[in-house]
Amino acid sequence: MQIQILGIPTDVNSSYRRGAATAPAVIRQAWRRYAEFGNAATESGLEIGSDLTIVDLGDVAVHEVESDHAAIAAAAEKAARVGPLLSVGGDHSVTFPLVAGLAAVHGPLNLLHFDAHPDLYHDYEGNPRSHASPFARIMEQGLAGRLVQVGVRTWNKHNREQAQRFGVEIVEWADFTPATVPIPTRPLYVTIDLDALDPAFAPGVSHPEPGGLSVRDIVAVIARIRTQVVGADVVELNPTQDTGDATAIAAVKLIKELMGAMARR
Ligand code: MN
Ligand code: MN
Repeated sequence: MQIQILGIPTDVNSSYRRGAATAPAVIRQAWRRYAEFGNAATESGLEIGSDLTIVDLGDVAVHEVESDHAAIAAAAEKAARVGPLLSVGGDHSVTFPLVAGLAAVHGPLNLLHFDAHPDLYHDYEGNPRSHASPFARIMEQGLAGRLVQVGVRTWNKHNREQAQRFGVEIVEWADFTPATVPIPTRPLYVTIDLDALDPAFAPGVSHPEPGGLSVRDIVAVIARIRTQVVGADVVELNPTQDTGDATAIAAVKLIKELMGAMARR
């Protein structure tokens, strides 16, 4: 099993703080520091480098212009023809073109989405490409069959209405246990906004929201995946807000387990 890694160094659609554009470089550095030297194994015992191998596709060339969408979608589509794709970095706006590119090969995807925010705004302050809007675009265009959201704790009326309109499956906090989160069937795409985590585990994000998930909560859900994962992303790492490497380390951990899920099948 070969897993392709793609960096997306963009934060032009971030609504508040910028910084997520540097995440691909920071995650690669954290990978070298914390995942190599004998620690490149998943919890299920798969060894990265032997049981599964990584092909780093480098970063998409982005220029903070409209055509970045097409460049990201094209890179995702090209990768999808080869095998599973794991994208790192960028703000959450990148998930729209990533899903568009993968859906061009696989058809509509099923999405498992971890986030403090629903990201369903029709637009945010006039920007329909905002990192607060990718799932509105994805659902409008029929790029996803199911969208399961876990960890959201910032619901407002507009986003509730959008969720209802698009048939989003919300895992309410009152019902949350890692053992019962619905895992959609193939082709599965897992999108992890690091602010889904409690800021105690992941301070290095642009929009921290206390009362979140633990790293263990997300790892436990990923461990239950048995359907084909065609793509995943880990987004919204903002190194300017990090404490030491805390959030970058959490990102590396989640990336390892996502790779494990991709290779398990
Ligand atoms: Mn998000
Ligand atoms: Mn978020």
